[in-house]
Amino acid sequence: MIITPEYLFENVTHITPEFLRSQGIRGLVLDVDNTLTGDESQKLDDEVRDWLDALRQAGIALTIASNNKAERVRPFADRVGLQFVALSCKPLPVGLMVARRRLGLARREMAIVGDQLFTDRMAGGLYGIRAYVVVPRGKDVNKGVKAKRKLEAPFIRRYYERGGKLL
Ligand SMILES: [Mg+2]
Repeated sequence: MIITPEYLFENVTHITPEFLRSQGIRGLVLDVDNTLTGDESQKLDDEVRDWLDALRQAGIALTIASNNKAERVRPFADRVGLQFVALSCKPLPVGLMVARRRLGLARREMAIVGDQLFTDRMAGGLYGIRAYVVVPRGKDVNKGVKAKRKLEAPFIRRYYERGGKLL
């Protein structure tokens, strides 16, 4: 099933270079809203900045794919020094195809990181790459997203029923 998470992280910063190495992952496609920062926020937490630096130092290639508009994504992407795909249409594979070209990696070497099951998690499943789901970083502002959280709940429950842990 491509909606139930395979990995669920409490915080994006818990995805360590060691973990990525153990999975053979050399590049990440990062969501922005409620993954790297709050929904519609431009705030960059120190821990997120340090995490990005640590991954870069470990040789992990990074890029951003967001379904949000370029006006929203660009200032944040510029701040963290990453290229981005805006309006990336997750769960459709188009944004991930662009991201993969930028990373210059095989699919098995890349993973998507995001907070939404019906966009980020499903995009990973449809494109055939690993998906690391994170607990939303803050409250949802977007009304459509708020509605989708209710639909996500059974799949999160299934993750735990299968013995999944909050990583
Ligand atoms: Mg998000």
